Amino acid sequence: MSGAGERMTGSCLCGAVRFTAAPKTREVAACHCSMCRRWTTGPFLGLECGSTLEIADSSQLGVYRSSAWAERAFCKQCGTPLFYRLVDKNFYFVSAEAFDDHAGFVFVTQTFIEEKPGYYEFANKTHNMTGAEVFAAFAPSSPGQAEP
Ligand SMILES: [Zn+2]
Ligand SMILES: [Zn+2]
Repeated sequence: MSGAGERMTGSCLCGAVRFTAAPKTREVAACHCSMCRRWTTGPFLGLECGSTLEIADSSQLGVYRSSAWAERAFCKQCGTPLFYRLVDKNFYFVSAEAFDDHAGFVFVTQTFIEEKPGYYEFANKTHNMTGAEVFAAFAPSSPGQAEP
């Protein structure tokens, strides 16, 4: 019903944080890094939204600076993880499950595949990238030791 680049609505579990964003594509990526897994209870599935994210009322938006180059935002009321942001690039990776509508979503990429625990595995055929490959592709200013 809607194509890439269109603005979509979403919210946290309790509805205190509502947003709109225009994902570049409907391609979903999963991150298996240890920080995403601890944060979300599993792989973090999201969509690249560039800098299109607009929060309706950010008074209930909590922000955790998880590394030198990134922060993670959540609802202060219900705790729903909402997005990961590269602060220098204003790049937003928004939770696929926070969007109200999943029409056209396609699961295409898995990142930090080497950190995925052995107890689960997606059956989807995806492009799998290691953390090093992700850093090479997105080139944060200080690649290496830390996780995203
Ligand atoms: Zn909430
Ligand atoms: Zn991650």
